[in-house]
Amino acid sequence: MVIDFESEIKDLGKPEENSLMGRQYMEQEDRQENMLRPQMLEDFQGQQALKDNLEVFIKAARSRGECLDHAFLVGPPGLGKTTLASIIANEMHAEIRMTSAPALDKPKDLAGILTNLSENTVFFIDEIHRLKPALEEMLYIAMEDYEIDWVIGQGPAARTMRVPLPHFTLIGATTKAGNVSSPLASRFGINLHIDFYTSEELEAIITRSSRILETPITADAVKVLAACSRGTPRIANRLLRRLRDFAYVLSDGIITSECVTQGLERLGIDRYGLERMDRNILRTIIEYYDGGPVGADTLSISVGEAVESLEDFYEPYLIQQGYLKRTPRGRCVTHKAYELLDLKEKENADSGLLF
Ligand code: ADP
Repeated sequence: MVIDFESEIKDLGKPEENSLMGRQYMEQEDRQENMLRPQMLEDFQGQQALKDNLEVFIKAARSRGECLDHAFLVGPPGLGKTTLASIIANEMHAEIRMTSAPALDKPKDLAGILTNLSENTVFFIDEIHRLKPALEEMLYIAMEDYEIDWVIGQGPAARTMRVPLPHFTLIGATTKAGNVSSPLASRFGINLHIDFYTSEELEAIITRSSRILETPITADAVKVLAACSRGTPRIANRLLRRLRDFAYVLSDGIITSECVTQGLERLGIDRYGLERMDRNILRTIIEYYDGGPVGADTLSISVGEAVESLEDFYEPYLIQQGYLKRTPRGRCVTHKAYELLDLKEKENADSGLLF
């Protein structure tokens, strides 16, 4: 079997979704990701405080024979929001319906789903911060009174009909809690914030995934891999799958720490988990904007990356690791970024740096 490593490297990002190969690749990746998705709360690694609370809420709701209160899941991509939603449904022995806010265009799209829910169903809306205002208003009444207002007819003959809904649990997930309107946010009874995972938590996730994938991996390799997974289970799992390929083709199939180091180098990922684009972002702010501040739109054009992936994927980790900070005037790099890139800071630069 011959693997084209150059295309593998590119594929660690996002392959062109429009091409047939890109679609097939995405489908295969999705299948493998689903295989690794924990089904019950006890399989969900880390986030102990969150799990402890959730367990109480689920047990209480079940013992009362009610459905769980509406839950709001907040956290960067790949930390387990979708996974938690399906775990909640499994633990509640309930059905789950999944959609994402951009897929809901007109009020009738949302009304169609709501009126077809059955009692106790978990209804998951991903990227809920992108819900249109008209749909948000429909959701308020649905969440509070389990009803929707539906307008029949047009002009003077139009009248509003209240349509009753079954009791359901809405789970809204977002990477941008600040963009969710407060009337909507306040209607969720359970708020769950998922933080980046610690290295120990990622080690547990990698160990579990390698067992499911039947891929031998040494304890050292697990540690190295956990350290460069950006605190994110999805990345840990994706890197594990790529390293499995390297180990299989280039050695005896066992993922050792040497295999991890070599594999990551070929994938352009350093020992802190930073990719070429991370370093490109920091270097651009330093070299073109004297260290900042620079706005997200300008930066996105300069580095050739969509604003959404800049804000949702790259920035949270760079900020959490202390390379970047967001100020009211824009993004600024920190001393740590200069050190990382081995660049000298300009003295007396009128850069607006706040450190
Ligand atoms: P999100 O919805 O936040 O983008 P997902 O729920 O899709 O993230 O999680 C991405 C992948 O990471 C899942 O396929 C799952 O295998 C894995 N994962 C996430 N959280 C955990 C966890 N706590 N324990 C084990 N695996 C996890």
